[in-house]
Amino acid sequence: MSLTKPGARGLQVESMALADIAATFGTPCYVYSRAALVAAYQAYRDSLQAHGLVDRSLICYAIKANSNLAILKLFADLGAGFDIVSGGELARVLAAGGKADRIVFSGVGKSREEMRLALEAGIHCFNVESASELAQLNAVAVELGRRAPVSLRVNPDVDARTHPYISTGLKTAKFGVAFDEAFDLYQRAATLPGLAIKGIDCHIGSQLLDPAPAAEAADKILGLVDRLAAAGIALDHIDLGGGMGIQYRADEPAPPAAYYLGPMLERLADRKESLVFEPGRSLVGNAGLLLTRVQVLKHGEAKHFAVVDAAMNDLMRPALYDAWHDIVKVGAGDTAAAAPMPYEIVGPVCESGDFLGHDRELALQEGDLLAILSAGAYGMAMASNYNSRPRAAEVMVDGAQAHLIRRRESVAELFALESVLP
Ligand SMILES: *Cc1c(COP(=O)(O)O)cnc(C)c1O
Repeated sequence: MSLTKPGARGLQVESMALADIAATFGTPCYVYSRAALVAAYQAYRDSLQAHGLVDRSLICYAIKANSNLAILKLFADLGAGFDIVSGGELARVLAAGGKADRIVFSGVGKSREEMRLALEAGIHCFNVESASELAQLNAVAVELGRRAPVSLRVNPDVDARTHPYISTGLKTAKFGVAFDEAFDLYQRAATLPGLAIKGIDCHIGSQLLDPAPAAEAADKILGLVDRLAAAGIALDHIDLGGGMGIQYRADEPAPPAAYYLGPMLERLADRKESLVFEPGRSLVGNAGLLLTRVQVLKHGEAKHFAVVDAAMNDLMRPALYDAWHDIVKVGAGDTAAAAPMPYEIVGPVCESGDFLGHDRELALQEGDLLAILSAGAYGMAMASNYNSRPRAAEVMVDGAQAHLIRRRESVAELFALESVLP
């Protein structure tokens, strides 16, 4: 399913022309489709349904992919839980109306304060990533007179075969507890008075398109669950993380959810434990785009540059991972024909790494609108104010309406927290 479709006034999202969104809210601007968000959640749910697992599954949206309150509220209303990695994310979920008892808390470096806040809120489970964190969480819980619900995030040592920056399940990763140490650590956790062992967790990486690594990880985790049960440590739930990949290029379709999840879900069909999943990118990535306007065309000796008003501070993935995003012309109100040529699509930031796309064959004029596709995940969430650039506005389209879900920052807000010496 493509997010944009041609209309009378150029490309549109649902029934809203992108040109109208740019005119109303300015550029750069993130645009999300409510219908596409719902469809992505539903596709995940349908795969669980197909394996008879939906009634004992909790889909915990990994909010670091995109933590706008409107998106969190939408998923909360659909029945989702949430996977958080900080106290800030906890506050966001609660502010959006998410239920604490549907939150799992991941991350390698939770502070004691974050542990305390999450315990007091009454979250579903802590995904504990080290022996030391286990001891610290126990101490915080004892101090509060509570028992912290815990899973160990176990590193199954499976190669997810994705970009090294988003591969998390190898022995060399900073994430999780080594597979060979997990059994002993569970036994130790069972002796700690501030902990209640609930489950097990693993998450091997992101933007995964091949179903085999996730299925292999599930096999290893299930084997460990059975060994633990035989030793008297019965787990209530199994959390198999997120990681399902999305389509970034028109010519490289991503497999459907059912294909990616199928082999993993087959292995869970006749288990009794309840299940947790932590999808992030796959619920939001293809449901958003970054709308930007061409400021300047610059024809150098070796390259043609289209300098647009979005930059690496708005969408960091190309600079960070050399990631590809399709870039298309919105095509509203173009009059004179421009000649197609290969453009470097770059932002105004003072870094040579500030590019959004290399070598894109486009017919451009200054003032044209471009849509940078598949930018709903790890786009706005990773945005910064580098070069004192206010972060972009965010808009959610619902049918023929566009709702502003985050207004553009003002320049004054950028330095409002700073002070000079007396
Ligand atoms: C980032 C993350 C996710 C979500 O990953 P996606 O690839 O966006 O689905 C899930 N669980 C944990 C622990 C994460 O860090």
